[in-house]
Amino acid sequence: MFKLTPRAWLNTLFLLGTLVLALVLVPWKLATQGLRLSEVLVFLVMYSAIGLSITVGYHRLFSHRAFRATWPLRLLALLLGAAAFQNSALAWSSDHRHHHRFVDDTERDPYPVRKGFWYAHWLWVMEAKERPMDSVGDLQQDPLIRWQHHYHFWIGAAVAALPVLAVGWMTRNLIGQLVIGLLLRIVATHHSTFLINSAAHWFGTQPYTDTNSARDNAFLAPLTFGEGYHNYHHMWQWDYRNGPRWYQWDPAKWLIAAAAWVGLARGLRRVPDTEIQRAKVAMEARLLVATLAADAHQAKSTLEAAHARVDAALSALQTRLDAWQVKKTEWKAKGHAQAEAWSVLRGEWKIQRTQLRQDLQSAWADWRRARQQVKRQALA
Ligand SMILES: [Zn+2]
Ligand SMILES: [Zn+2]
Repeated sequence: MFKLTPRAWLNTLFLLGTLVLALVLVPWKLATQGLRLSEVLVFLVMYSAIGLSITVGYHRLFSHRAFRATWPLRLLALLLGAAAFQNSALAWSSDHRHHHRFVDDTERDPYPVRKGFWYAHWLWVMEAKERPMDSVGDLQQDPLIRWQHHYHFWIGAAVAALPVLAVGWMTRNLIGQLVIGLLLRIVATHHSTFLINSAAHWFGTQPYTDTNSARDNAFLAPLTFGEGYHNYHHMWQWDYRNGPRWYQWDPAKWLIAAAAWVGLARGLRRVPDTEIQRAKVAMEARLLVATLAADAHQAKSTLEAAHARVDAALSALQTRLDAWQVKKTEWKAKGHAQAEAWSVLRGEWKIQRTQLRQDLQSAWADWRRARQQVKRQALA
């Protein structure tokens, strides 16, 4: 049941007001004045800068601590993030940490999709339920975050409006810039973020886990600078990437890696590739077993044996990779005095790695065969 608190009124008025105004003013503007290149550019720059600040800053940095950032980067994310008008970074992160901790719980998840697509999308914002800020003690230590928490609306208003007004004044096109660069941009930023809470828990695939409603959805990634791979994200929320594969559209991960390269970020956390593969094969095995008839014992045991082989091969490879990482760190600390011994060690390592990769490949081939067999059996 909605309680109409002053905050709920304010949120509802802001969300509906900006949407209705955009639905009326944007078509009017296009019909009477057309669309100028400068308006498109201002829209794209503001949408990208602010959207990236939500994805990189509010989400991966503050909510998940997926990497550490120097103060100029944190300040930039806080200034631009405020212009998304999605509350302060502190409140946003508090809600988001509850979302991960209690995902799909209709009482404790702030935006559970189980209460309906539109509830998870934006009705929860309109409801503006008071929630305890009991999970953001670490963020409250940061004076920049505390400052933004107090003034986020005014910071957001200044950052959202001033560049748009400046360009509008210079190009003698205040109204056009305000409609496209400010109003339409605010609505677009709102709903692209909201789609992650609604659509990314509704449409898409579940390659890593089906213990919660989160889904991978490549169509949502371009709108949110990489947040579409939500099944992966709910599995490993602390990874600085959402799309771990090189071809998955995740500009936020590229930006974070670039920030690390120039010294603005460090401590980037990532899941080992072997762990990702193991989760994927375990999920496939579970789904296949579920499709088999109850009496298909032989097929089940073939499948389980093949799964166990892939699992063991991945484990062996990861153990070896970890051991090698330790060796390399030790070696770096010692300096390069014994270069010859180093080259022997590296040679041995390469042979071992090749062997382990061959084992893994043949385990994957076994797995594919077992999968085919089970699929045939399931159809029979
Ligand atoms: Zn989620
Ligand atoms: Zn998250």
